[in-house]
Amino acid sequence: MQDKALDILIAGGGIGGLTAALALQARGHRVRVCEATPQLKPLGVGINLLPHAVAVLDGLGLLPALQAMAVPTSALVFANRHGQAIYRDARGLGGGYSHPQLSIHRGELQLLLWREAAERLGEARLLSGQRVLAARTEGERVVAQLQASDGSHSELSADLLIGADGIHSALRRQFYPDEGAPRWNGMMMWRGTSRARPFLDGRTMVQAGHRRAKFVVYPIAPVAEDGLQLINWICDRRLREDGFGGGLSAPSREDWSKPGSLDDLLPTFGSWHFDWLDVPALIRSATQLLEWPMVDRDPLPRWRHGRITLLGDAAHPMYPIGSNGATQAILDADCLAQALQQGATPEAALDAYEAQRLPMCARIVEMNRQEGLDAILDLVEERAPAGFKRLEDVIDPAEIDALVRRYKAAAGHQQTR
Ligand SMILES: Cc1cc2nc3c(=O)[nH]c(=O)nc-3n(C[C@H](O)[C@H](O)[C@H](O)COP(=O)(O)OP(=O)(O)OC[C@H]3O[C@@H](n4cnc5c(N)ncnc54)[C@H](O)[C@@H]3O)c2cc1C
Repeated sequence: MQDKALDILIAGGGIGGLTAALALQARGHRVRVCEATPQLKPLGVGINLLPHAVAVLDGLGLLPALQAMAVPTSALVFANRHGQAIYRDARGLGGGYSHPQLSIHRGELQLLLWREAAERLGEARLLSGQRVLAARTEGERVVAQLQASDGSHSELSADLLIGADGIHSALRRQFYPDEGAPRWNGMMMWRGTSRARPFLDGRTMVQAGHRRAKFVVYPIAPVAEDGLQLINWICDRRLREDGFGGGLSAPSREDWSKPGSLDDLLPTFGSWHFDWLDVPALIRSATQLLEWPMVDRDPLPRWRHGRITLLGDAAHPMYPIGSNGATQAILDADCLAQALQQGATPEAALDAYEAQRLPMCARIVEMNRQEGLDAILDLVEERAPAGFKRLEDVIDPAEIDALVRRYKAAAGHQQTR
């Protein structure tokens, strides 16, 4: 099928959908993207792109632009709630990867991808304010039903339709109508950004605390002329201990832009003063504060239905642990574009994409439910809640090393040493 250029429609102009658009266009396909939002704004706060996702974006010629706006993360440090370092995992080039890990503003990344797609595909192929409601297969074509932001309805037909329409995917709902709302694990996250002096080396991501209360912090933009840096932070607090099925559903429908309140954070994090960072001061200086329950969905038995498939959060929403949300969506996009080049038919290509990606993403969903690498924090909190003099008295570094290696292998890290 190498020579056959397809008409491909993508539902959703998020990070997954736009990366797919660029990867498919680069292989000669005719791509259109329907994005529900009438006008994209730089929504969200910080995210991390792991090196294997950065490699994909590099292949699309985007590395220089990304490097100008992001921070090349030097390490992920696990610390206790007193800020004492437990484990330092070198990241990016210094960690033996072929590419940097990038900490970046999610909304700015989306806008960059949108601008590139507008340039490469042509503006007319990016249909903003067009929500995909449902789709049907007609012979070898797929017909998508759209609703414009003014309420009007229309249809578009294509050879393939990719549902990259996020955690509330309309296409996923069409195929799995009984699935219901995302599952909540009882954890709330407050995500904020503050402009502040760089901490540590100005390139480190830190996760401090334990399963009931955790503080994650990393810079997401280069240091500005005034010496300040945009710093992303997340306060996680467990509001319910019973996890799934405890009788309560997650608080209201998830909305990444729902404002949060400092009053919910300071009683827990107000006393977290580290040698290297004043947590309450950073929280208080927030320029943006958003609230979000930690939700995911069960892995699906399959993504492909005829000539329609799912990608990114529509296919495998997962807890934002281990920097995998945007990373796995980008890897999906790359895999799908490659599969379409190699498959004998579009259906075979979609099956090959799914065979490669679905089991891996399902494993990450499961591992994140078991807290991913955060399990390290709980071990230390259990054994030394008041802190430690020597880490070796609390935990064997080999125990941590084994946990880290297992998680990274499952998430597909490609470390050369
Ligand atoms: C506004 C917003 C803010 C976010 N902020 C953060 C953050 O701060 N930190 C973090 O870790 N993750 C954040 N995420 C999630 C993160 O972007 C994703 O987990 C990850 O990037 C995977 O991306 P995706 O493209 O699969 O899904 P998303 O990023 O969710 O993109 C889906 C896109 O599809 C559009 N859409 C939805 N339904 C339809 C439809 N029926 N038809 C057409 N278009 C549709 C949405 O408007 C969106 O642009 C945010 C997502 C959104 C939408």
